Amino acid sequence: MSITDFDVCVIGSGAGGGPVALSLAEAGYSVVVLEKGPWFTEKDFYKDELACCRRSVYTPRLKDEQHVIEDRDDEGEWTGTPTSESEWDFWNGNCVGGSSNLMSGFFHRLKPVDFHLLSEFGPVKGANIVDWPISYDDMEPWYDMVEKVIGVSGKLRSNVNTEPRSSNDFPYPPTTEHAVSGWIDKACGKLGYNALRVPRAILSQPEGARRSCEYSGYCGSYGCSSGAKGSSRAALLDKAVTTGRCEIRPHSKAHKLVSDNKGRVTLVEYYDRQGQLKQVDAKIFVVACQAIETSRLLLTSTGPRFSNGLANNTGQVGRNLLFSAGGTGNGELVYAELPPDKAEVLRQVGPFVNRALDDWYVIDDDASGIGRAKGGIVEFLFSHPNPISLAGRTKRGRNGLVWGKPLKRKLEAWFTLDRVLRFEAFNDWLPVDDCFVSLDANIQDIWNDPVARVRIGYHEENLRIGRYLADRGVEVLEQLGASSIGSSNSSSPPTNLVAGGCRFGKDPATTVLDADCRAHDVENLFVTDGSFMPTGGSVPYTWTIYANSFRVADKIKSQLGG
Ligand SMILES: Cc1cc2nc3c(=O)[nH]c(=O)nc-3n(C[C@H](O)[C@H](O)[C@H](O)COP(=O)(O)OP(=O)(O)OC[C@H]3O[C@@H](n4cnc5c(N)ncnc54)[C@H](O)[C@@H]3O)c2cc1C
Ligand code: SF4
Repeated sequence: MSITDFDVCVIGSGAGGGPVALSLAEAGYSVVVLEKGPWFTEKDFYKDELACCRRSVYTPRLKDEQHVIEDRDDEGEWTGTPTSESEWDFWNGNCVGGSSNLMSGFFHRLKPVDFHLLSEFGPVKGANIVDWPISYDDMEPWYDMVEKVIGVSGKLRSNVNTEPRSSNDFPYPPTTEHAVSGWIDKACGKLGYNALRVPRAILSQPEGARRSCEYSGYCGSYGCSSGAKGSSRAALLDKAVTTGRCEIRPHSKAHKLVSDNKGRVTLVEYYDRQGQLKQVDAKIFVVACQAIETSRLLLTSTGPRFSNGLANNTGQVGRNLLFSAGGTGNGELVYAELPPDKAEVLRQVGPFVNRALDDWYVIDDDASGIGRAKGGIVEFLFSHPNPISLAGRTKRGRNGLVWGKPLKRKLEAWFTLDRVLRFEAFNDWLPVDDCFVSLDANIQDIWNDPVARVRIGYHEENLRIGRYLADRGVEVLEQLGASSIGSSNSSSPPTNLVAGGCRFGKDPATTVLDADCRAHDVENLFVTDGSFMPTGGSVPYTWTIYANSFRVADKIKSQLGG
C-alpha cells in the first residue's frame, strides 16, 4: 500500500462512524473523521425548545441544504416537493456525534427472527424481503460490547420473546423510573401481557468524564449537558481523540470519493468551513452519513469504473430505503380522578417510563385476520414536555381560533388537569421498489452538489400491522383508566428513523455491500451507518447500527493487517 495521510478516513461521525473511529484508533491506526457539522461539547447543550425543536440549530437551514421528497399526488403520480417549500425536515443531527446527540436512547436489540424474515414468513407480494447474510449469533457479541462501551442501563426482565444474550444483565442499573411504570406493569399483568423494562443508552451511574443522568425531563431532541446520553460523541469520539490517533475535522462536508481506474478509492474531496475544496487520502474509507446522505454521496462519486456512482454498477445504491412503520396513541391520566397521593406522584417530571411490550413481535392471531406475521413492539412514554408545541395545540377550538381569556383558561387546563401518557408502536417498514434515494436533477446545496431526491412509497402491510399494535396499546391505556384515548397510524415516514439504501448480502447483483459491509466492487470502501440493513426489524435502529459498526471495525482491522 502507498503512503497515505491516514490509515482510515471516516465520513460522518454519528452512530455509524463513532465505533469505527474508536476501535481503529485504539488498535493503533491513524483515523481522520470528516463531519459536516460543528463540534459541540456538553456546555453547548441547553434546554431551549426554540433552538432544539423549532429552528435549525443542530441541523442545516433548509434553504442551504434540503431534500426533495417524492410523494403520490391526488392522481397517484409521484410528485417531488423541495423541503425548503414544505418545511418537512429530513435532517436529524448534523454535528460531531450526529443524531445520536439528540436521540432518546430507547435501546432495543433486533431479535433472531429479524435476520431471516424471508425464510420465516415467506415472501410478501410487492415487498423485497430477504434474509440477512449474517445471523443474530454473529451480531450478539457486538450488541454486548455496545452495552459496555456506550453504557446501557437496565435490568433484565426475561420473557419468551427476549433475545438470547451472553451477559447475565446490563452493566449499569436501570435509570430512575416514574411511578407510572409500576401502574403499567399492573395493567399489563391484568391483560396477560409482559411489560418489559426498556434498556436506555443513558448512564445511571457516572463513568470516566461522563456524569450520570440528571433527569432533566427534556431528553429526546435535546443534547445532553451531563454526558450521560450514549451519543457517539460522548461515548466514543471523545475517547478516540484521547488516543492521539484520531483527528476530528468538523465543518468538513464530503463532496466526492475519488476512485482510480482500478476501482479503488484514492481520496475524498471535502469543503472546509471557508468553502475551500480540500483532500484527504487514506487506505480505507468508511461512509456513515446516515442512510439518505450515504446513498447521495455514493451516487455523486462517479469515477472511471463507476459512471453511475461509486459501488453502483448494478444500480442498487439508494434502493430499498427503510424508515420505521407503526402507530401512536395517547390517553389522559386525570389528576382529579386519582387518589391525592397517586395524583402527586404522577406530577413528577424527570424519571423515565421505560416500559414496552414485545408480546406481538411475532403475531399469531387468526381471530384478528392477521394470522402469523411479523409484528413489532409498543413503547410507552409521557407526552414530550415542550411547552411551545403543547400550547400551540390549544389554539384551535370547535369554532375556529381561540384567543384572550378562553385561551388562557384552556392553557391553564391543558397544563394542570392531567398528564398525557403516550405509546409508540414500531413495526417493519417493508422494503419496496418505490422507496429509494436518487439525485435531484435541478436542486443543489450551497456547495453546488445535487441534493437527494427521496421517494417515500410504502407497503400496505406497514399500516395493517401498525394498526394491530396500536390497538394493543389502546387496551393498556384503557386498563390504566386513561380518558380521551386516541390512536392513529400513518403511512408517513418518521424522519428520524432511517436505514437501508446500501443493502448488504451475498449477491453482488442485488446488493451493494458484502456481509462485512465492504462494497462488493470497491475493496477499500465500507459503509457503517444503517444503510446496510436489508430489512429493518421492528425496533429503533441505533443499537444495531452501533453493534454492526463495531463488528465491521473488526473486519477493517483484519484488512489493515490486524
Ligand atoms: C429526536 C431523535 C430521537 C431519537 N431517538 C432514538 C431512540 O430512542 N432510539 C434509537 O435507537 N434511535 C433513536 N434515534 C435515531 C438515532 O439517532 C439514529 O438511528 C442514529 O443516530 C443514526 O446513526 P447514523 O450514523 O446513521 O447517522 P447520524 O448519527 O445522524 O450521523 C450521520 C452524520 O453524518 C454527517 N454527514 C452527513 N453527510 C455528510 C457529508 N457529506 N460529509 C460529512 N459528514 C456528513 C451528519 O452531519 C451526521 O453528523 C433518534 C433520533 C432523533 C433525531
Ligand atoms: S441528563 Fe439525562 S435526561 Fe438529560 S439529556 Fe442527558 S440523558 Fe437525557
